[in-house]
Amino acid sequence: MLPGLASMASDPSSSTTLQELSAALHNCQRCKLAKLGRTQVVFGVGNPNAQIMFVGEGPGFYEDKQGEPFVGAAGKLLNELLQSAGLSRSQVYIANVIKCRPPNNRDPEPDEVDTCKPFLLQQIELINPKVVCTLGRWATETLLGRKVGITKIRGHAVRTEKLTIFPLLHPAAALHQGSLMEPLREDFLKLKAFLDQADRPEPAPPVPSEPQRTQMDLFGS
Ligand code: URA
Repeated sequence: MLPGLASMASDPSSSTTLQELSAALHNCQRCKLAKLGRTQVVFGVGNPNAQIMFVGEGPGFYEDKQGEPFVGAAGKLLNELLQSAGLSRSQVYIANVIKCRPPNNRDPEPDEVDTCKPFLLQQIELINPKVVCTLGRWATETLLGRKVGITKIRGHAVRTEKLTIFPLLHPAAALHQGSLMEPLREDFLKLKAFLDQADRPEPAPPVPSEPQRTQMDLFGS
């Protein structure tokens, strides 16, 4: 790498494009996952100008090998669910809260989330999606900054100061626990309805004929 590029790549906060941010995290050593058997950093995939972004928990076995989020069984299911919502994988952007696979797919630890979260926020800022769909409790809690009951909050848009979050069940949870499959499919239909509604043009404001007359009446005409 050219010397100029090397120094740029080492400071993620100066990244002004997704490509620069991805390069800055390429060989990230900021948390212990770098030394716990990950193959590579799994940054994210999809349309850098996507209006809809999906955020999962962290890479699993296949994601770690291929360097792309959601390429294993959960990814196959996600592709199907995207289709049911009228979306394609290439149209959206897909990332995870943590970008390196934890050993044996264990849950991310708080220090790992704390280290990686600023980069997720930066990714979201650079993509600037209209809606961020969080897959599962981990991603939802990370972006809302509070504990949630995912089965309660799922399928309803939550507006924060900066983002519109749409929490969904995690596809891997439904693969694990069959009773969640139907609710997960429902979530994506709700997402479709939400997106269709958001796309609809605002109705024209009513012509203010009555109030005007009332005001004139006030002046005695
Ligand atoms: N589960 C996730 O949360 N992310 C992936 O990339 C794959 C499975």
